[in-house]
Amino acid sequence: MTKRTGYLEVIAGPMFCGKTEELIRQVKRAVIGKKRVQVFKHTLDKRYGSERKLYSHAGITFDSDLVSGAAELLKLVRPDTEIVAIDEAQWFGETLVPVVGKLLEKGYHVLVAGLAMTFDRQPFTPVPALMALSDRVTKLSAVCSICGADAVYHKRVTAKGPKVDPLKADPGFVSKMDASVFQARCRDCYRKK
Ligand code: ADP
Ligand code: MG
Ligand code: ZN
Repeated sequence: MTKRTGYLEVIAGPMFCGKTEELIRQVKRAVIGKKRVQVFKHTLDKRYGSERKLYSHAGITFDSDLVSGAAELLKLVRPDTEIVAIDEAQWFGETLVPVVGKLLEKGYHVLVAGLAMTFDRQPFTPVPALMALSDRVTKLSAVCSICGADAVYHKRVTAKGPKVDPLKADPGFVSKMDASVFQARCRDCYRKK
């Protein structure tokens, strides 16, 4: 089968900005269009236990494969797949960059969602590097939890997260827990407590 030229879209932004929702939206459209899609997330994303599913904060879900790193992901991508979607890219670390490079060389359409910045506003490897490599960046904002303006950051608002066993907690609860530990903040409100 002849492959098309590789294409990379990165969906980036702070927590709660809708990265997972946007990734799922695009994957659902591709499935309607009878494209062959594979969806991946990292085993480190334990927020909803080790379920083979993507979860958005609003409860939208989509089935995914679970991988322990970029090398395993590369092995699992099938030759006849057209679209490779990867959520929460920040958990993969820098090894995701050469793996995405290989997928692009092979002609896959790669869709990567992840945090561009950490909660203390530092670049979060590997998303900034992937943004630089990409054909298209979809940069989303959340809603500031203090003033309602567009929020480009998320901030940790507790010193430590509550002690919850993610394997036992139900997804609705974990989503609320996320919101009690991290908040979306605009540039002005980031400084506030
Ligand atoms: P991300 O993957 O970027 O963390 P999700 O796709 O999981 O985001 O969730 C986005 C959804 O989260 C929104 O559609 C909305 O329902 C909900 N949400 C909760 N808090 C916020 C907020 N502060 N700003 C925007 N959306 C929020
Ligand atoms: Mg997400
Ligand atoms: Zn604000």
